[in-house]
Amino acid sequence: MTKHILVTGGAGFIGSALVRHLIDQTDYKVLVIDKLTYAGNLSSLASVSHSDRLTFVQADICNQSVISDHVDRFKPDIVTHLAAESHVDRSVDGPADFIQTNLVGTFCMLQASLDHWRKLDGNAQDSFRFHHISTDEVFGSLGNDGFFDENTRYDPRSPYSASKAGSDHLVRAWHHTFGLPVLITNCSNNYGPYHFPEKLIPLVILKCLSAEPLPVYGDGSNVRDWLFVDDHVSALATVFEKGRVGESYMVGGNSELSNLDVVHAICDTLDVLKPRHDGQSYRTQIHFVADRPGHDFRYAIDPSKLKNELGWAPKEDFQSGMMKTVKWYLENDSWWKDILSGSYSGERLGLG
Ligand code: NAD
Repeated sequence: MTKHILVTGGAGFIGSALVRHLIDQTDYKVLVIDKLTYAGNLSSLASVSHSDRLTFVQADICNQSVISDHVDRFKPDIVTHLAAESHVDRSVDGPADFIQTNLVGTFCMLQASLDHWRKLDGNAQDSFRFHHISTDEVFGSLGNDGFFDENTRYDPRSPYSASKAGSDHLVRAWHHTFGLPVLITNCSNNYGPYHFPEKLIPLVILKCLSAEPLPVYGDGSNVRDWLFVDDHVSALATVFEKGRVGESYMVGGNSELSNLDVVHAICDTLDVLKPRHDGQSYRTQIHFVADRPGHDFRYAIDPSKLKNELGWAPKEDFQSGMMKTVKWYLENDSWWKDILSGSYSGERLGLG
């Protein structure tokens, strides 16, 4: 029988990649619930909007009665919960939305899912999953060595990561206290097509193309592990189909790079795909700016549990993922021009 999957935040960067995968590659029936904040974009779902297996509802996950109503009617076998306020810099400027959506919204999703789960018969109860999508940022900052794994102590340091850490704790509590079958994934920095241009990689690509300075925070030495978004999607599908109930899994791309290395890679890729008219490298546009307050130095992931238990591994390395990403931005300017002329035009965020 066709399974029903509810995707919150399905008009966002990762959520829309998951929805495109579910419609193009599986026979799931998909309900997307998304508030369409500045970060939500229906045009990211345009390629699958014709499908009669896809239903979109514009709603706020903090609205308990509306959410419960949709969950009751759709009767999901799986809930994948991605809706969140997701940008650290915005959490420095205005934490309130992060507390509301990431904590209260997750609570509402858990309550609606628990009420629904309790009404299911035995088999359906056993196979139901609530999959919470979280971040490696909940574990704080690493020094030069070491990796985050599933046993790492929580130590969030920004309003964003603290709100995500709190949501992880709520999800675990609904499992231990009420028996809701949950899964948690904590992943590293994603990149790829349809990424909102406030984030480092799309921001730098678009500033290269508009001949603007490329802002690098501090001295550019902060390190992140980069995960191509479609690899993240395949990890999510692996976990909600095969993961062990109550467990968490780390998802990483085996691509640790400093921010400056990332910016160099973007410049070098564009130097090949769309050379500047004056023949100079895009690297000449690099411009160091004041660091983010409380900027975590390094995140790095040990994804061996996901690899050894469930057989998942990323397909893209950073070079191949970056090539796909830059090509996508070059070929899809109408997607990002709409954003730059509307909700965000590349300004500096997060100085507090
Ligand atoms: P995004 O900001 O691109 O998308 C978030 C989506 O949630 C948007 O479509 C937005 O409209 C929707 N949304 C926000 N508030 C809502 C509300 N109150 N009700 C309903 N919908 C609401 O985020 P993303 O990058 O796609 O991230 C998805 C999830 O993955 C988030 O939970 C995030 O914390 C997590 N995550 C992201 C990354 C990353 O690198 N992007 C890394 C680790 C974890």
